[in-house]
Amino acid sequence: MVELDGSMGEGGGQILRSSLTLSLLTGKSFHLRHIRAGRTKPGLQPQHLMSVRAAGTIGQAKVRGDRQGSQELVFEPGKIQAGNYRFEIGTAGATGLVLQTLALPLALDTDAPSTLTITGGTHTTTAPCFHFLDVTWRAYLEHLGMRIRMRMVRPGFYPRGGGEIEVQIQPCPAALGFTAGRAGPVRITGFSAIAGLPDHVARRQARRAVNRLRDQSLEAHLHEETWEGGPGSVLALVVDTTPAPVLFFGLGARGKPAESVADEAVDALLGYLGRRREGETELVDPHSADQLVLPLALARPASDFAVAEVTPHLLTNLGVLRAFLDREIVCEGEEGKIGRVRMAPQS
Ligand code: ATP
Repeated sequence: MVELDGSMGEGGGQILRSSLTLSLLTGKSFHLRHIRAGRTKPGLQPQHLMSVRAAGTIGQAKVRGDRQGSQELVFEPGKIQAGNYRFEIGTAGATGLVLQTLALPLALDTDAPSTLTITGGTHTTTAPCFHFLDVTWRAYLEHLGMRIRMRMVRPGFYPRGGGEIEVQIQPCPAALGFTAGRAGPVRITGFSAIAGLPDHVARRQARRAVNRLRDQSLEAHLHEETWEGGPGSVLALVVDTTPAPVLFFGLGARGKPAESVADEAVDALLGYLGRRREGETELVDPHSADQLVLPLALARPASDFAVAEVTPHLLTNLGVLRAFLDREIVCEGEEGKIGRVRMAPQS
């Protein structure tokens, strides 16, 4: 039984989700205490509870403590079953975080394809949005040998939720490692989307982003989209890096000007590009860094890549990995600065 303290490092939901993924893939049971102790509303909230129940379902696990608000959980995994599953979060909780909990076990430890349908939020703060997962996370996983197809059936925004994603996951016998290449020229594309809001919101978001990037001598090609449902809006910017393009996004909210939505995405992108000029090799963006270490730690070959920022999420996820896996993983660099992750080949 792996003993884990949910208050370590970042103290958030990721400790739980990574533990579920690693438990399913290693067959090791875990006991997690102080779940999300670092958050104002600690314990299992709907998205986390759904992640637990969904992991329990696909992995035929024995679970204790899977209640709303629970701060302690025991998870004993069984055999992972490929199949067609539907999971309904019931709030605007992030569908993408439930997906990330399940994708690696279904890809790496089954021999048949699976389809996941997950309902809830598709574009919410402090979580990867559908388009980040489709453009960036999925491209990284493809580079590691995994085949995943995703479709947004309906968007879901905070507070209403009601979004739906459909994901097809192919079995992958073994994941590959990753070594970053050299940074190439910058090409920026993206979109400005609205759902249930007037057209001028999409235009203003796009105009602000294009003008601010032009001030920095950067040309961006954005298109506008109108989605069903809502209300909500998204401004997404994609930098064409290798091996995966990076997507940065801003989200609309009641009372928030369209220009501020664009500014959020532009600020994140300019911060990343500024750091990229300092580095010699391509930089993995701060969010992908903490998400990528999981599949890489499960792959046999070595990995070596620079990250745009050593974040508390990255350091915390490495802590969870070390609790489950006997593998040499080194993270160089100070928190908040450019860093480097190296994993020795698995013996
Ligand atoms: P909590 O509610 O406890 O904060 P959580 O379930 O929301 O927890 P976190 O532990 O905060 O989860 O983890 C959030 C995950 O979402 C991390 O992997 C982080 O990299 C990712 N993430 C957050 N913002 C973005 C973003 N803008 N783009 C891509 N990924 C993001």
